[in-house]
Amino acid sequence: MGSGGNSKTVVWFRRDLRIEDNPALSAAARDGSVLAVFIWCPTEEQQFYPGRVSRWWLKQSLIQLGQSLKSLGADLVLMKAQSTISALIECITAIGATKVVFNQLYDPVSLVRDHVIKQKLEELDVPVQTYNADLLYEPWEVYNDEGYAFTTFNEYWDKCLKMQNDPVIRLPPCRLVQAEGSVEDCTIEELGLEDESEKPSNALLGRGWTPGWTNAEKALTTFIENHLIGYANDRQKVTENSTSILSPYIHFGEISIRKVFHSVIMKQILWAKEPNHHGETNATYFLRSIGLREYSRYICFNFPFTHEKSLLSNLKHFPWQANQAHFKAWRQGRTGYPLVDAGMRELWATGWLHNKIRVITASFLVKCLLLPWQWGMKYFWDTLLDADLECDILGWQYISGSLPDGHELHRLDNPEVQGFKFDPEGEYVRQWLPELSRVPTEWIHHPWNAPSQVLQAAGVELGLNYPKPIIDIEIARDRLTSAILLMNEKESASKQEDNNCEGTNEVVVDNGDSANLPIPKVLLRKEKKPCPSTSSNDQKVPSMHKEVSVPNNNNYNNNKIDRKRSKLLEGQEPDEYNLHDCKTESGFAETDDDLCSTAVSSSASKKQKQATGTISDRSRILGVHLNRSSTFSFNFRSFSNLGFMESQGQKTSNNPKVLLSSLMSKRQKLQEELRTIEKQVYELETSYLQESSNFGNVWRGYEGFLSSSKNTTNLKRSRKFQHEDRLFSLSSVTSPATEELNAGREEGRSDLGPGRPKGGGLTINGQGKPKKGRTGPRDGRKIRLSNDMDDDDDDHDMGGMR
Ligand SMILES: Cc1cc2nc3c(=O)[nH]c(=O)nc-3n(C[C@H](O)[C@H](O)[C@H](O)COP(=O)(O)OP(=O)(O)OC[C@H]3O[C@@H](n4cnc5c(N)ncnc54)[C@H](O)[C@@H]3O)c2cc1C
Repeated sequence: MGSGGNSKTVVWFRRDLRIEDNPALSAAARDGSVLAVFIWCPTEEQQFYPGRVSRWWLKQSLIQLGQSLKSLGADLVLMKAQSTISALIECITAIGATKVVFNQLYDPVSLVRDHVIKQKLEELDVPVQTYNADLLYEPWEVYNDEGYAFTTFNEYWDKCLKMQNDPVIRLPPCRLVQAEGSVEDCTIEELGLEDESEKPSNALLGRGWTPGWTNAEKALTTFIENHLIGYANDRQKVTENSTSILSPYIHFGEISIRKVFHSVIMKQILWAKEPNHHGETNATYFLRSIGLREYSRYICFNFPFTHEKSLLSNLKHFPWQANQAHFKAWRQGRTGYPLVDAGMRELWATGWLHNKIRVITASFLVKCLLLPWQWGMKYFWDTLLDADLECDILGWQYISGSLPDGHELHRLDNPEVQGFKFDPEGEYVRQWLPELSRVPTEWIHHPWNAPSQVLQAAGVELGLNYPKPIIDIEIARDRLTSAILLMNEKESASKQEDNNCEGTNEVVVDNGDSANLPIPKVLLRKEKKPCPSTSSNDQKVPSMHKEVSVPNNNNYNNNKIDRKRSKLLEGQEPDEYNLHDCKTESGFAETDDDLCSTAVSSSASKKQKQATGTISDRSRILGVHLNRSSTFSFNFRSFSNLGFMESQGQKTSNNPKVLLSSLMSKRQKLQEELRTIEKQVYELETSYLQESSNFGNVWRGYEGFLSSSKNTTNLKRSRKFQHEDRLFSLSSVTSPATEELNAGREEGRSDLGPGRPKGGGLTINGQGKPKKGRTGPRDGRKIRLSNDMDDDDDDHDMGGMR
């Protein structure tokens, strides 16, 4: 197939980054020569400019798509533009195009933009053809008997499954003919999807994820062959890779949803023949998940206001509490509710979350903190690797009582109860909250109730190294009830007012839930260079290597600080956890360096804390645990003296020569001191890791430590420690441990240290240990499960499949 006609077609790629079942590409190839183009126009993305991790994924996918198109005979032209329409017109002019083709999108931003572009091209007499590459059925194909859009998922999906015409997969082109003519294109780097400062953080993502359409195919096959069979039950397990983990691939169109659907149906038919009823049921569950994604597009198309307003107009009068401190605590995973905090830290560190954890963290924001759901939706948008506007909207509307078949507004799930339900052994919490790793399972989801001796033995001091609950759950329940009452009262009053308006029966419902509560814009403070992203809460996984200049204040000099952190992900313990620091309770344009703390940090104050405070924080953690070792006596305060001595040196003389030689000699003294200290740290860490190899430690966890039974977990932990287990001594480039590691590398060992397989995922301490279970492209995401909007066993609504 291919190049049968004389057409010259511009193929505009967006979120359909694949060759297979790409109807726009196939149609263009069939008709003649093609100019394949991807246009990046940041200003048009507006408030939904993609976050860092999402842009990283896009960049990798574009690279693979470019290679694939080239192998078929055409280049992928990359254009960075001020306006998409002008870039398209440039392409049309360059090749004398006879038409433009692209695949449809259904999110509110694209709907408006595509409509305008179509109109303008038609005015210019350039024919435009659009195709469905993203859905089984177009939103306008599925209506109820009266011709209205469905507003409940079950009815919608039922109708889809009964549609007469089956979704059809298009064959890929076997060759492409490049259209003649050239445009001003750019390289993938010039496209600007990844800022220089983001690269170190992004490199970590590459350890766990392999974007690109060929990898999507592999991920699908692995899932269908190995995991589909247990999907219905396994998707409830938050500690395992129990779901397909296809969401980022699906979002960028790297795999056709019709192909996913067909592959699962085929498997279901085989199971039906065997017969394997269990397999059949599991396939049905999975198809339902695909259905939820379809439904997200359906809702956005038919109710295009849903990115701002709830589908039900009930939330219009809800008294949201715009408490910035609470929002910050939620983002940082400092609410004092371990399951919520673990989820938020995982999101921050990996850019991915299991559906169950998405529901729990999102519900906590809305129901316990009474923060507007749109704030949470925007934060998810900014931080998720699979950030997908329609799915994000549907998820947040679902948990906030905005949908007829979603969670009811008054339903408040207790994270403590959910913890024991979905993380019964506390594994998930221990993985992401190392400060709680020694808390016995009995108390892990409600440490505030634990006897003080238990907390003491676990090295936990509530309010110090782990926060007290941000709000008591019963108080939260009362607040929610009062808020709903107030909302109802306001609604009745407003109805009454409407009724009193004589002479008019017409009411314009603007459904403006939170018109007065704009999504906070969190700017990075004291940035030398502004963040490239306009995304408000752009999340960054901390850097491993970073040089940042520090202003000459607070006893710091102007030297560049080289913060090489080979194993520990700097800032993976957000270091501004003290809520009292957060003074701004109102004022939405708060500057917020906590986001840089999730990040390759850039603020001066941040640097200072990292150089001193962070170390002393860690010393506290290490100290707590190392108290077990009688040899521990190192005083970390020596580090914080460095800056002080430097500034003192500057006071001794104004003669630059004298000053220089005094500084040089001080530097030498400090280097010697540092060497001694690092040796001490190295030795102490070695003895700690050796001593603790049998009962676990702060890095590897303590499960089973307090239990008398000798289970396999304990046995698993009885191993000789490895280089990768080091944390403190590897956080410095000059320590003996780093030197050892470098020597190992030179001898040809893995960069990741002995014993660590490549391809491991990121963990809270950045050591990148691989997840148990799957290998290959799935390894990086930690999480697992579920599909449905709702997840609980007792749910019988939208997501429920009981
Ligand atoms: C508050 C909230 C926000 C969310 N934001 C996003 C988002 O930005 N992007 C995103 O892709 N998903 C989002 N989801 C939906 C869901 O959590 C993820 O799609 C799912 O966890 C992805 O994992 P998976 O690929 O392993 O899913 P699987 O369980 O293997 O499901 C397969 C596919 O079905 C689709 N799907 C599954 N569950 C849902 C669902 N509840 N809603 C819509 N589609 C679904 C996804 O495309 C998913 O990849 C959100 C859910 C909630 C509650």
